[in-house]
Amino acid sequence: MNPAPAALTPVGVFGGTFDPVHYGHLRSALELVEHLGLQQLRLMPCAVPPHRELPACAAAHRAAMLELAVAGEPSLACDSRELRREGVSYTIDSLVELREELGEGHSLSLVMGCDAVQALATWHRWQELLDWSHVVVIARPGWQFPLTGPVADWLHRYRLADASELRRRPNGGILVEELRPLAISSTEIRRLLAEGRSPRYLLPQAVLDYIEAHNLYH
Ligand code: ATP
Repeated sequence: MNPAPAALTPVGVFGGTFDPVHYGHLRSALELVEHLGLQQLRLMPCAVPPHRELPACAAAHRAAMLELAVAGEPSLACDSRELRREGVSYTIDSLVELREELGEGHSLSLVMGCDAVQALATWHRWQELLDWSHVVVIARPGWQFPLTGPVADWLHRYRLADASELRRRPNGGILVEELRPLAISSTEIRRLLAEGRSPRYLLPQAVLDYIEAHNLYH
């Protein structure tokens, strides 16, 4: 079998606050690289989230922790573009920039969790996301997709049958991927740290060392 042309080897971008990054994010990212045959998955920390309170920790620290977490894993990278933009970090703006950098024909996938899908109708220009990329949704146990309304219709209308379709065109489809469930959240890690308990083994040691060195989340 001939290898897929580079332009159709999909690149992924996984947005989140990563406050801090943990093994739930990292294991999901690596499984997506393997399941989807991604050339690379970029974890993109949101500088100023539009839909939630400001993160506990400054964007520069969150990006630095991500850099430490993906060091040595060439299929994962930290994409800090939202830290370089002024104002609220809208995902659509990042997709437009990525599309410009990759070129029109390159397959691009935006990764989001079910929680993001639940809130999607509140996202800035959410109906335009598929004009710039595919969307890959991580299915997590206990989460349900909207059953009625515009997001439910959107999921139904653009749903792809399998991952091979991500390579056939650069954007426009929705794929739902079931990954290994890991019940880890940044909220829980922040709570453990605030209570003076250890979050060890829920996140990379290098990230925990960084948290301790900078006295974060206490
Ligand atoms: P918080 O607890 O602060 O809300 P979080 O752990 O959910 O944080 P985020 O940075 O908000 O982490 O998540 C970024 C993305 O990663 C979201 O789309 C979320 O659904 C997904 N995600 C978070 N935790 C996991 C996990 N354990 N497994 C798979 N996906 C996850």
